[in-house]
Parts: sequence; structure tokens; C-alpha cells
Amino acid sequence: MSLPNAEGPVSILIVDDRPNDAMMLSEVLSNPAYEIVVANSGPAALKRVLTQDFALILMDVVMPEMDGFEVASVIKQRERSRHTPIVFLTAAGQDVRAIYQAYSVGAVDYLSKPLDEVIVRAKVAIFADLFRKDRRIREQAAALLEADRRERELQLSQMRVLSEKRYRSLLEMIPASIWTADRDGQVDYCNHRWRESTTMHLDQTCGTGWLQAVHPEDATRAAELWRRAVETDEDYVGEIRLRARDGHRWHICHVMADREPGGRVRGWVAMFADCQELKAAIEVRDEFLSIASHELRTPLSTLMLQLDSLQRTLRDLTGADDRSRHKVDSALRQTQRLDKLVSDLLDVSRICMGRLELDRDEVDMVELARTCVEGFGEQAKRTGTTIDFHADGVVMGRWDRMRMEQVITNLLSNAVKYGAGKPVHVSVGGDRTHATIQVRDQGIGIASEAQARIFERFERAVSSRHYGGLGIGLYVTRQIVEAHGGTIGVTSRSGEGSVFTVDVPGSADDRAGDIPRSAVS
Ligand code: ADP
Repeated sequence: MSLPNAEGPVSILIVDDRPNDAMMLSEVLSNPAYEIVVANSGPAALKRVLTQDFALILMDVVMPEMDGFEVASVIKQRERSRHTPIVFLTAAGQDVRAIYQAYSVGAVDYLSKPLDEVIVRAKVAIFADLFRKDRRIREQAAALLEADRRERELQLSQMRVLSEKRYRSLLEMIPASIWTADRDGQVDYCNHRWRESTTMHLDQTCGTGWLQAVHPEDATRAAELWRRAVETDEDYVGEIRLRARDGHRWHICHVMADREPGGRVRGWVAMFADCQELKAAIEVRDEFLSIASHELRTPLSTLMLQLDSLQRTLRDLTGADDRSRHKVDSALRQTQRLDKLVSDLLDVSRICMGRLELDRDEVDMVELARTCVEGFGEQAKRTGTTIDFHADGVVMGRWDRMRMEQVITNLLSNAVKYGAGKPVHVSVGGDRTHATIQVRDQGIGIASEAQARIFERFERAVSSRHYGGLGIGLYVTRQIVEAHGGTIGVTSRSGEGSVFTVDVPGSADDRAGDIPRSAVS
């Protein structure tokens, strides 16, 4: 708020409908310390007090349009003029009641006409002085407030500078490449590690220059993902190859929005952590998995064939004892189990390398599921589990027969394994557009916290002391279902059994090609 100079003239308003009286009073008060303003009517006076602060209002009581009392009560109602002192000018011989009324509408004093010049000057001087003092106090208070505000602003900006400095030195020390960008995505800072490893200075990195450090094969994808993050205000995590002194290296890249307390994005931070060694180790692991499972399969197949033939020979051989038959049966079963594990591992490595391919054919899902259930008779008998099957008619579609068989077999073998020997129900439904397969057991069930994770690689919800297994069956199952463009889900409660539901569209574009190569895991 700007106030007039404390030592400058103060304004005095004279309100009188008689120009002569007003002029006479102005002359009496003529003094460089006063600025005299004259209003010839009540409304004119009200207009003035709306725009100007007066040290004093000298007002005639009797005026034609609005009398002095009416004008005074409006002045007192208005916030700006509420405290302006009013002195009434009363005519000679005026009734004492008028004087009381004057006080009641907020007047501080009155002067009787004809006016005594000395008294008028003395009284006006007192009010002017009061006003000046008041104005000085207000100016001092405002100056104090302003000084206080400036001091706080200074402290705040010093704190901001300090915390920005600390933030930057922290970023400088972090052993990962980092840059920051403004809210429009223009890079404005890069840390020591970034400069060191990409050999790019700040001015080369600024704006969108950082993209020069990205491997040419990743650059378009990186630019697109970055554009999308800035557009949607969403964080992003991915993998990218960045220029390094010894060629390009894989990095995990985290792009995070830097938000104001209200949530508005004020900038961005991107952090690139070198994962080249990790990535290489994972590639070696996947490669090993792939080679090992291939190498294991060949002798296993031979072993199974030989055991199979031995089993048949023993069956036909008169005089062979039951114990030998039993031993061969058991050896064959264990070898089949081993074969299943090896082919699951092979599938995992295929999926990791994005090589799970579908061989679609016209398939009746009802018939396929029925065959799977029948194939389980032997195993179910051993655990004392009954499996019932329900389906109406046929449900035709274009699916990979072997892969869908694998899906149903995996779900069935889990239902038997975790089904506590209680009955298992399998049902198939659907039409030309889709097929739904449900496998329901009444076994140990799955805790809700584990229900999403069991579809991930090597994830299990039971301890290996109680149940053997690698935790890859459901992972492979989900990948096959998703490659068919379908979904898989489970509803379950601990101790009350589980229901696995698979839904696959009757015909769809293969999604196998979309399965990402193994990410860092
Ligand atoms: P594995 O059975 O070899 O551990 P899976 O990938 O087939 O691997 O299953 C992952 C986990 O999901 C299992 O370890 C088990 O904890 C849980 N699970 C799967 N099917 C069932 C089921 N029908 N009932 C209870 N738990 C199950």
C-alpha cells in the first residue's frame, strides 16, 4: 500500500452548500500544510471520500439534498472513511438536540456559526496533527512489514540456493549418469558421471542433445518414450544402450517427474545405471539354459525309449517278477518327469529369447481337453484323485494344439499335485469367438498376496520341503495363453482350493513375436 509522505500536506474536506461560507472557511484555513477540498452537497462529499483520505471533514448540518447527519452516517458506514473525524458546522441558535444528534451519528465536535477564526484554526490544527501522527505510524508499520518480508524472502532464496547446491553436489557424486530437464523436457544439467562416460559436455547434452549419446538402434525408441513421458507426465523405466568410452553399454534408465507439492510437474530427472555386466551375465545364463536343455533332451529321449521297450519286454516275458516290472515302471515315470522339467526349461529359454512360436491349426478345444483329462487317469489313480470333465458339443478355433495341451496339462497336474487328493473338475465352454477352460480343485489354495506372483518365473507359494517344483509351469502356461492373445487368472482362498480360468480367442493374430526378450530379472 503506498501512503502519501508523512510530512506532506493533509487533506481537509469542507462540505457546505453555500459557496460563500465554503470559500470563507477555505481562506481561514489557507496554509501550505493543508490541501483544502470543497464539496457543495452531500452526494458530492460522499464521492470525494470514496477516493481520498481526509484528516478532517468540516460539514454544514443544513443542506438541501442530504443533510449533514445523513451524509455523516453514510461516511461512517464505509470502511475507508469510518475513522475520519467529522466536525459539524451549526447555525447560530441551533437547537441543542441537533448537537446531540450530531454526536450520535459519529461527529467528534461541532463549531457554531459565525465561526471564530482562531478556534477554527486551533481545532483543525489538532486534527491535522493527529492525522499526521497516525499516518507516520502506519508508514512505519508498513516499512517494518516490508523489511520483514524482504528479510524472509532473502532467507528463503538463500535456503533455496543452498538446497539446490546440495542437490547438485549429491547428483555429482552418484555413480550413475544423470541429467535433469525442465518441465517441457529440455535438458538443463548433466552430472559428472554422464560427462565422464558419454564424453559429452553440458552444452552438447542440453535440450535434446543427450539423444546423441544413445545407440543409433535405440535412439528412435528413446526419443519416442521420452516424448510420451513428458506429454503424459508419467515416469518411465526401460533399457537403453548409451555411449561409453569402450563403445555402447546397456543401461537401466529411470525417468522420474519432479513434482511440486501440489503434484504439478516442475521438471524431470533421468538416471542411467550401467547394467552391461548384469545383462551379459543374464545372456550367458539364458544361453546356458538353452544349450543345457537341448543337450539333456537327446540322452533323455534315448533313455525313455529304452525304458519303454524294457517295460514292454518285461510285460511279455513269462517268469519276470512283479518287483522288476515295478522298478522299470517307476524308472520310466521318473524319467518322464525329468523330461517334462527339461522341456519346461527349454520353453523358458525360448520365451526369454522371444522364440516361442505358435503352430496354429483347426482344433476342437473340448476334444483336446478331454484327451488331456483321460491321459491323466494313471497319475490321478495313484494320488486317489478323481477328475471329472464337463463340456457341451464342440468349441472350434485356431490354436496351437501341442501348446494348448501343455496349458491344460500344467493346470491339471497342479490341481492334482496341490489338490489334497480331493476331486478335480475340468470344464470347457465357448463358441467360435473364444474358448474358456476352467480347472477347479479343492486343495490347499493360494494366499491372495501370492496369486499374481505365481505366474512369474520361478515364483512359488509353497515351500520346496513340502512340494517339489521349479516354479516355471504357470509362467510357461501364461506365456502360451498370452501368445494366443488370451488371458489366465486364478481365484482362490487358502485351504479352500483354487479355480484357474483360461480364455483364448478363437482366432487372433499371434502375439508370440511381441514377447519381449528377457529383461533384467
Ligand atoms: P511349481 O508347481 O513347479 O512350483 P508352477 O509354476 O506350476 O510351479 O506353480 C507355481 C506355484 O503356484 C506353485 O509353487 C504353488 O505354490 C502355486 N500353485 C499352482 N497351482 C496351484 C493349485 N492348483 N493350488 C495351489 N497352489 C497352486
